[in-house]
Amino acid sequence: MEGVGVLMTCPMSSYLETELDKRFRLLRLWEASSSKEQFLGENSNSIRAVVGNTTIGADSELIDSLPRLEIVSTYSVGLDKIDLAKCQERGIRVTNTPDVLTDDVADVAIGLALTTLRKISASDRFVRSGSWKNRDFQLTSKFSGKSIGIVGLGRIGTAIAKRAEAFGCSISYHSRTEKPQSNYRYCSNIIDLAANAQVLIVACSLTEETHHIINRQVIDALGPEGVLINIGRGHHVDEPELVAALLEGRLGGVGLDVFENEPEVPGQLLELDNVVLLPHVGSDSVETSQAMADLVIRNLESYFCNNPLFTPVV
Ligand code: NAP
Repeated sequence: MEGVGVLMTCPMSSYLETELDKRFRLLRLWEASSSKEQFLGENSNSIRAVVGNTTIGADSELIDSLPRLEIVSTYSVGLDKIDLAKCQERGIRVTNTPDVLTDDVADVAIGLALTTLRKISASDRFVRSGSWKNRDFQLTSKFSGKSIGIVGLGRIGTAIAKRAEAFGCSISYHSRTEKPQSNYRYCSNIIDLAANAQVLIVACSLTEETHHIINRQVIDALGPEGVLINIGRGHHVDEPELVAALLEGRLGGVGLDVFENEPEVPGQLLELDNVVLLPHVGSDSVETSQAMADLVIRNLESYFCNNPLFTPVV
């Protein structure tokens, strides 16, 4: 497979890069000395696979520029950066990295909820600034026993629910379809879910239907004591509405791992102590990033050996 051209769209994991380099003719789009267009033009006839991620996937423009593309193996479970319809139309196979990252992302969701409610980051800043010498830290809000609303009871949503159950939380969820095998309360309407939750956690996939699924109505239903956690994608939340709700005291707090325009974060959020901000690190443990990379490679190897894909999407 050494002659097979594989295009990596941006830097992701150095382990993945090294292992791909050992097996394929790896082309790094970000290292192109010429313009991206010129680089793709020069190499388009040899590129048979694309490895993308949540920053740069395989959009219509990239796919159109690669006439010999056969497979997109994304280093992510989310498929929102891939033009799936175009892949289907062209018969291009698509694989992702489900399951191996579920625990990590669920851990981060619970960590964000705890950090936001118990103000763990803010109290750390309090100690570091020397303020403890002058006064005690403020009281915070309990996480155990709270009512949790989960948007998207898929692999990650279910793993979050299991963890929250261990904290004595009651669980409700909203998704397209009811999950009768779970014992959690189903809400067909997201506004009802938000109105009855103290903590609302977004864990659904990003599609046209879930773009801005967290809008002003949902935020207002969650209310001034409510906390929003987003480990899905930035575009699930109408960010200007979120900022306005926090500034006007219409929302209690927020914990975000993802943003609409990463790595940009709305400046107003940086000033607020009821806000916890993470740089999209949901699945970024050493163990999980290696497992994701291994899955990307196994899918590519299988494909080019004419064997079944491990995690096919299309
Ligand atoms: P999954 O198992 O496919 O679950 C997706 C869930 O989204 C399902 O419950 C699905 O409901 C729900 N959903 C889809 N469309 C919906 C709609 N229109 N309204 C309401 N719910 C809808 O995926 P997963 O493995 O749990 O991953 C979920 C997402 O997490 C990914 O797509 C990705 O965006 C995000 N993620 C983030 C990070 C991070 O680093 N922060 C890491 C990994 C993943 P149905 O079952 O009813 O279809």
